[in-house]
Amino acid sequence: MSTPSDLPVAVIGGGPVGLAAAAHLIARGLPVRLYESGASIASNIRAWGHVRLFSPWEFNTDAAATAILRDHGWQAPPDDVLPTGDDLVAAYLEPLSQTPEMSQVIETGAKVRHVSRQGIDKVVTRGRGDHPFALTIEGRNGGGRVDLARAVIDASGTWQNPSPLGAAGTPAIGEAASRHRIAYGIPDVLRAERATYAGKRVLVIGGGHSAANALLDLARLAENDAGLKMTWAVRSANLTRVFGGGADDQLAARGQLGTDLKHLVESGRLNLVLGFSAARVDETSAGATVTANDGQTIGPFDRIIVATGLRPDLDMTRELRLDLDPWLECPRALGPLIDPNLHSCGSVRPHGHKVLAHIEPDYFAVGIKSYGRAPTFLMATGYEQVRSIAAHLAGDHAAADEVRLILPETGVCSTSFADAEKADAGCCGGPAVSDTAACCAEDEAAKASGASGCGCSSAPKVEAAKASCCAAA
Ligand SMILES: Cc1cc2nc3c(=O)[nH]c(=O)nc-3n(C[C@H](O)[C@H](O)[C@H](O)COP(=O)(O)OP(=O)(O)OC[C@H]3O[C@@H](n4cnc5c(N)ncnc54)[C@H](O)[C@@H]3O)c2cc1C
Repeated sequence: MSTPSDLPVAVIGGGPVGLAAAAHLIARGLPVRLYESGASIASNIRAWGHVRLFSPWEFNTDAAATAILRDHGWQAPPDDVLPTGDDLVAAYLEPLSQTPEMSQVIETGAKVRHVSRQGIDKVVTRGRGDHPFALTIEGRNGGGRVDLARAVIDASGTWQNPSPLGAAGTPAIGEAASRHRIAYGIPDVLRAERATYAGKRVLVIGGGHSAANALLDLARLAENDAGLKMTWAVRSANLTRVFGGGADDQLAARGQLGTDLKHLVESGRLNLVLGFSAARVDETSAGATVTANDGQTIGPFDRIIVATGLRPDLDMTRELRLDLDPWLECPRALGPLIDPNLHSCGSVRPHGHKVLAHIEPDYFAVGIKSYGRAPTFLMATGYEQVRSIAAHLAGDHAAADEVRLILPETGVCSTSFADAEKADAGCCGGPAVSDTAACCAEDEAAKASGASGCGCSSAPKVEAAKASCCAAA
């Protein structure tokens, strides 16, 4: 059997975080192989390439990746400009993947189907760490092979696993039969798919940034298209969280997205349905109708855009020993830091290899997959994750443990939620910086000054969900 330390580190996924992971491993002289399932790198971002990011360039590049690029004469785009997904690929990710250092470790058209330990399944304990990781790779022609690795950095994203229309997290009755009129995500209604949406009765379902982007694009299309009718159905009965922090958001474009959506709702140009828990879809001769749990039926519609969230692919790693947060499906230790039931600031305490570790040594999920179903991931978080993990794998413990990250807050981690949604407690200034027992920054400061806390609960997450700072229903 091969000695695991002789083997490369396998990176799954050629998005911004997977590519950054490879760059950090290369910088540390560790052998690496990166597998990307798409025909070219950044396949997920290309699928939403028409969408403008809300973070400007200064937050979107990784230090190890730009060091490689600069060695080849790359000029960084202006810090304050907001790229589209396509810009991010064309001006940064594609040039990075084409550098000699990176191109020799990247394999495109290589889908990782399964990750296990060579020769043993997850039940076997004895000598487990001596067995290298075994990755089943499905190539372009469908043929399979097994590659061995000493460690696995899983940056395979979540975009390819959208949540269903059904509010219960399971497909609505009839959802599959209406698949021909459903788009999951953010279709390019202003360009590539204009003809599909022009003059149509369109339902957008979901309450996050993707739904906001889809609605605002539809509104732009409707400016010259009187026949286009928009309906927006949201499970929540309150839009405070959806509208976000507005001018208080430290990423101006992210705040503006919510503000523009608020203006659109207030303009009366769309039909808004609050508190709608979709349960079934029915095809009728006039189009599809959607019915909620309480029996309310809306429609008929020609098109339905489902933007109800994303989730990680856990099948791929079924034979690994993972320790996951029960509802977010992220590493258990990360859950309380990003749980939208607790904190919604958009900032997260810096975290690296320790927080991302599983029972299975040397397997790490990173990037947006590391957040499981939590919605607030930023690329900058992923870049710090992979810097720490590469240092850990290289045995540089000091660098691995010293995680630093300052993220722009959304401006919604405030009493606005408590007031608007009648949550049990107000905001306490965002997540705690270092005290894991503190529920938030103010709680941490109060405890540091000798007080018992700020008044919020620092009980385990399940109890804290209703009582902690920054809480929202
Ligand atoms: C519409 C939208 C806008 C966003 N805007 C911002 C923003 O403004 N700022 C910000 O910081 N973040 C933003 N994000 C969040 C996040 O930063 C991005 O989703 C980012 O692309 C995450 O990078 P990633 O590398 O983790 O995953 P991805 O970019 O999703 O990359 C995953 C890669 O893995 C590949 N893959 C998947 N499965 C396999 C497999 N089995 N084998 C091999 N390869 C596989 C995919 O093809 C893909 O290329 C946005 C997200 C979305 C959806």
